[in-house]
Amino acid sequence: MSSILPVRHQPPLPLDQVIRRDPPGAEAIEMDVVIVGAGPAGLACAIELARLARQDQESGRGSAELNIAVLEKAGALGEHSLSGAVVNPRAFRELFPDLNPSDFPFRQPVAGEAVYFLTEGRAQRIPTPPTMHNAGFYTASLCEIVRWLGERAEQAGVNLFAGFPVDALLVEGDAVRGVRTTPSGLDRDRQPTGDFAEPTDLTAKVTVIAEGTRGLLTQGWREWQRVGAANPQIFALGVKEVWETKKPLESVVHTLGWPLPDDAFGGSFMYPLGPSQIAIGIVVGLDYHDAGLDVHELLQRMKLHPLFRPYLEGGELVEWGAKTIPEGGYHALPERRSGDGVLLVGDAVGLVDVPSLKGIHYAVQSGVYAARAAFAALKSGDTSGASLATYDRMVDESYIVADMYRTRNMRLAFKDGLYVGGLKAGLMTISGGRLFGGRIDMPEDAAAPRRVAEREPFTPDGKLTFSKLDAVFKSGNATRDTIPSHLLVGPDVTAEVAEFYTHVCPAGVYERVGDELRVNAPNCIDCKATDVLGPRWTPREGGSGPKYRSM
Ligand SMILES: Cc1cc2nc3c(=O)[nH]c(=O)nc-3n(C[C@H](O)[C@H](O)[C@H](O)COP(=O)(O)OP(=O)(O)OC[C@H]3O[C@@H](n4cnc5c(N)ncnc54)[C@H](O)[C@@H]3O)c2cc1C
Ligand code: SF4
Repeated sequence: MSSILPVRHQPPLPLDQVIRRDPPGAEAIEMDVVIVGAGPAGLACAIELARLARQDQESGRGSAELNIAVLEKAGALGEHSLSGAVVNPRAFRELFPDLNPSDFPFRQPVAGEAVYFLTEGRAQRIPTPPTMHNAGFYTASLCEIVRWLGERAEQAGVNLFAGFPVDALLVEGDAVRGVRTTPSGLDRDRQPTGDFAEPTDLTAKVTVIAEGTRGLLTQGWREWQRVGAANPQIFALGVKEVWETKKPLESVVHTLGWPLPDDAFGGSFMYPLGPSQIAIGIVVGLDYHDAGLDVHELLQRMKLHPLFRPYLEGGELVEWGAKTIPEGGYHALPERRSGDGVLLVGDAVGLVDVPSLKGIHYAVQSGVYAARAAFAALKSGDTSGASLATYDRMVDESYIVADMYRTRNMRLAFKDGLYVGGLKAGLMTISGGRLFGGRIDMPEDAAAPRRVAEREPFTPDGKLTFSKLDAVFKSGNATRDTIPSHLLVGPDVTAEVAEFYTHVCPAGVYERVGDELRVNAPNCIDCKATDVLGPRWTPREGGSGPKYRSM
């Protein structure tokens, strides 16, 4: 049996493109703080900063107004946001102490929960592991949360620029001095069309990188500044659908087992989003071993299981999408998340608790801490790495790192397969993380070899199950198809590797034509799985990609 080692076919990080030493252009826009990414982390940071600045001015101690900009690659706020989601409201309460949870943009409180172990035809209910308890939490759509946070940020005077992806960090010495956006209006050969718009430079005393999972700027900054971690970051890919249903779902449902093979880590979720909508999805660790494993296809098969089918039959697929999740946990946290003129928050640095599949409240909380550290640094006139390191201390002393430390090895234990991993994770839970407490080494996902084997084809029925092409349509992706490719393909892509990429990508971007790889770049929905296992993802013209509404 042959195998593929994905890392052999990956191109290096385009560091010269990401870290730019040339001075900002003459037309550069001057800001105090530039935030890259309007997710929960970036927007929470902007709101807290604006609040601190206002309080300061009201107290009579503040000097000039604080200019804050948030740049987002999606055409409108929330269109690139995707999560489960069950939300822990803790950080929202801290950011909005005057509001009640009923004021937050959540769909409903969690009324009950059930965990099942699945085989192909059966669902065995199992006790809910303590790490998966969701009492006191809420189901929600991240798109809706982001739009709501965006309104609050705008009311607070923050400048929101949607449709402006950041291409590069502008640096001077070891300091980050701002960002450069991507150009737009290029044709397939990168020649300007009539709609061409030059990149824009924005300078800032503090740049906050809130770009979410597998960010290019984060990777670039860490490589440039040699910021390591005990373990490399690892990822899972989540594929999710929102359905209009006739049969209401009462409880939050999680499953383990089928349709995943025993040597892959992951599980599924089904959440109620009000009386007539549900979110359903599957999450699979990208260190799986079968080159033919296809997460989109696994979700399609899973929907036919007797546990899920009754909720979907007679209903309608409203939206489809996919995104990666950083899963390395505590041992993959970068040794610092601050530097000269820069702070990194949320998923960008892997603030996710994997056993509970939660990162939204950590994103918000880290955004709040980043705002406090940035504000203090701006007030003191010192935005050096030493000054901004207060952010690292705040995160390290918070419940974020305490939670992640407690569950530090749970995901890593599954490296040995579902059953050994499940047993170890159970013992870790009972012992509060003390048993098997030593660090488990993990290679990066692309360093895990993949078996190439024959597989059974799956034919979608177009009612309950859908092809990748239909799925991309349901993501709202209407990217201009004359756009230059933003995906950098590596060396020696054989027919087997091309075939592997067709399965990695949930959006059908990669096709094997004969022995060649064809890249349908406009289909890309920015899930970033490709960047983990295959061709590199880079930012492209603003507004490209999905147009999620309720993911
Ligand atoms: C399938 C799935 C299920 C999940 N379930 C849950 C759950 O139930 N509960 C929970 O709490 N968490 C859950 N999570 C995790 C949670 O969604 C993340 O932890 C959270 O969204 C992180 O927030 P963030 O602001 O750091 O990043 P994001 O939400 O990813 O936001 C980053 C933003 O930056 C933008 N961006 C990226 N690059 C650039 C660039 N170069 N220029 C400009 N903009 C850029 C992106 O478009 C995006 O809008 C889930 C995640 C997935 C994928
Ligand atoms: S090409 Fe785009 S959609 Fe496909 S795996 Fe890569 S990032 Fe995801």
